[in-house]
Amino acid sequence: MGRLNNETVLDVRGLRTQFATQDGTVHAVNGVDFTLNAGEFLGVVGESGSGKSVTMMSLLKLIPMPPGEIAGGSAMFDNQDLVELTPKDLRTIRGGRIGFIFQDPMTSLNPVITVGKQITEAIRLHTEASKAEAKARALELLELVGIPDPKQRLKNFPHEMSGGMRQRVMIAMALACSPEIIIADEPTTALDVTIQAQIIDQVRNLQDELGTAVIWITHDLAVVAGLADRVLVMYGGRVVEEARVDVLYSNPQHPYTKGLLNSLPRLDQQGHELIPIEGQPPNMLTEPVGCAFAPRCEYAFDRCYSETPGYTEIAIGQRVACHFDMNAGQPR
Ligand code: SF4
Repeated sequence: MGRLNNETVLDVRGLRTQFATQDGTVHAVNGVDFTLNAGEFLGVVGESGSGKSVTMMSLLKLIPMPPGEIAGGSAMFDNQDLVELTPKDLRTIRGGRIGFIFQDPMTSLNPVITVGKQITEAIRLHTEASKAEAKARALELLELVGIPDPKQRLKNFPHEMSGGMRQRVMIAMALACSPEIIIADEPTTALDVTIQAQIIDQVRNLQDELGTAVIWITHDLAVVAGLADRVLVMYGGRVVEEARVDVLYSNPQHPYTKGLLNSLPRLDQQGHELIPIEGQPPNMLTEPVGCAFAPRCEYAFDRCYSETPGYTEIAIGQRVACHFDMNAGQPR
């Protein structure tokens, strides 16, 4: 686990993000609250459309605005509300104090500039480093993320590298200015399993070494199992459950979390039958009324369709948004 302490580096409250489309307003994020502690590894899990990526991208205004709009909430980082910051102020935080690693490195690497130049420019943009210092740091970073022959690699263009190498370059860029937070959005999904495992290991080691807090967004609960200190499970643009990773696995409280776990192969449960979650994700074009998971939920009852569940504290650090008490086997 990472170098944890209780200092909160990010405090997000009531975040709401919407998109105006031809068909109406898409309610992508509907009141998300969470905190991130210094040095913590936070997993954010949910299927596509759950709002997990939009939530994190909204923090740094990385969504297209318009049609996107942050309709409410706050995100406190070092005594400033990211939601209120101007694009200019955010630019100094983005890539400097908060690094972002995207799923597809080609969306953020410039294809016509060498990798070395891109990393050194990122360093110089956010620090006082001289050209020579930035170059030395770039070399150090490529070594740190496990790129063989880094001196030679600095001269490469992105297309001269494999997908795994490019992803490592992205990580190196994200680390370039020793950020306090790294947000990684499904960074390993497109890679083969061995490379995925290597990259996950790298990030974990770096986090231990540098004490950076990490938010790791994924659709795959198995990926965060060995990585995260804490997990947020998102559904319908809300956090539906939050818990320490071991607690989430051993005692899931939300039917959706249970469903996610049932659909995973479990090493600890031989012969465990994999059960996919039936049904479709919610239509985000309608203003959410009641619990968004109700049409897919085997525990749903009347109240679920009319009343949006608030949070119930199950134990310290574990909260769930559900009208059904899983431990008691009956409605709350
Ligand atoms: Fe299921 Fe109701 Fe809980 Fe929603 S609130 S997850 S529908 S039991």
